[in-house]
Amino acid sequence: MSREVRAAPGNAVALGTTPRLPSYLPEEDRAPWEMFLAQIDRVLPHLGRLSRWADVLRRPKRVLVVDVPLRADSGEILHFEGYRVHHNVARGPGKGGIRYHPDVSLADVMALAGWMTVKNATVNLPYGGAKGGVRFDPAACSIAELERVTRRYASEIGLLIGPEQDIPAPDVNTGEREMAWIMDTYSMNSGASTPRVVTGKPVSMGGSLGRRDATGRGVVIVAREAMIRLGMPMTGARVAVQGFGNVGSAAARTFVEYGAKIVAVQNRSGAIHAPDGLDPVALTDFLAGREGSLVEFPGAHPIDADAFWSVDCDVLVPAALARSITSKNAPQIRARLIVEGANGPTTPQAEDILIDAGTTVVPDVIANAGGVIVSYFEWVQNASSFAWSEQDINLRLDRILDDAFGAVWQEARRLQLPLRVAAFLIGCTRVLEAHELRGLYP
Ligand code: GLU
Repeated sequence: MSREVRAAPGNAVALGTTPRLPSYLPEEDRAPWEMFLAQIDRVLPHLGRLSRWADVLRRPKRVLVVDVPLRADSGEILHFEGYRVHHNVARGPGKGGIRYHPDVSLADVMALAGWMTVKNATVNLPYGGAKGGVRFDPAACSIAELERVTRRYASEIGLLIGPEQDIPAPDVNTGEREMAWIMDTYSMNSGASTPRVVTGKPVSMGGSLGRRDATGRGVVIVAREAMIRLGMPMTGARVAVQGFGNVGSAAARTFVEYGAKIVAVQNRSGAIHAPDGLDPVALTDFLAGREGSLVEFPGAHPIDADAFWSVDCDVLVPAALARSITSKNAPQIRARLIVEGANGPTTPQAEDILIDAGTTVVPDVIANAGGVIVSYFEWVQNASSFAWSEQDINLRLDRILDDAFGAVWQEARRLQLPLRVAAFLIGCTRVLEAHELRGLYP
């Protein structure tokens, strides 16, 4: 939405235009960012006087692109592209994970940073939104190579990260091990041991109890709250999970603890179906160290990867990558409730189809916020050099998500809006209010 800025009284010429897209984003790499902008567009009409500030959401505050050279074990030198984006820091330091993936692009990281801004504000954490990524295939690397990539990338983004500036965390293909290397690299470069520079660390070096399963657990807490309001019983509910990584597997285990059953799972290798329910703990053990053999799991029968979308179920949890639910597969979906474990799994077009069909879509910015909420707990525990019990953490997580979901549900009801627009409205209002109060510098 390029728009002409009116000439100020007394000015003979217009000042210029506010471009819709940043000029540094190449044409072939715009889709993820366009999707984020489309979601912002849907909230604009509801922002009232704050819409005056809304353009700050339509561009990241700063974008850092770095070269990450790697001396491979073979002696060859390779170069990967790395990114760290601060979408917005009006409400506090940047916060968001780091993703390793051969397809990750600048537009992906920008959109993911934007979703972090909205997510952190919607659940009312004192953070802005940030995200990082390195474009390479970690599965093709040795552990020594992974460590070198991580340490070099951490050094390069040292310009932006810091315990009060920007606090990275795990995301797709990163976890405790990578966070330990980043914490060590930052600490070696700065000369002071600084656990608070990352969250999602191993517990033995300042990580929080409950962080590993927090995103998946949060998905189920939010599903529980939605199901109560939709009159859907949790006991015996049939759940299909797409993606069985950190989020999908923890969500599946927690659903079963709550009395639901997992009737289908899909990952990169294919899909399985078990109408009577499968054991997610057995599946996690089965998959450990055996990437890609989901279809051989003895507790279920294999189905076509595409057939996964039409499986008869009550709840669907997309917990893989962005844009998995599109206008192509949305009409096949039979679940009454979709809870987004992944970031950006549903395209706006697919969401329209689903909503028209009466499906409730709980958006990522609340559905998968459990991870960053417990990251926040970790950061707070590190600041006071005191560790909370796991029970304490899970109770506080439950309370924050419960309150945040209740507010989103109420706002959606009050204004007759889809849950995503209501969540964005709550989050964006907080961000833009902070902007207005802080004022424009200079
Ligand atoms: N990567 C997670 C997310 O997308 C967690 C971020 C964090 O803990 O900072 O929300």
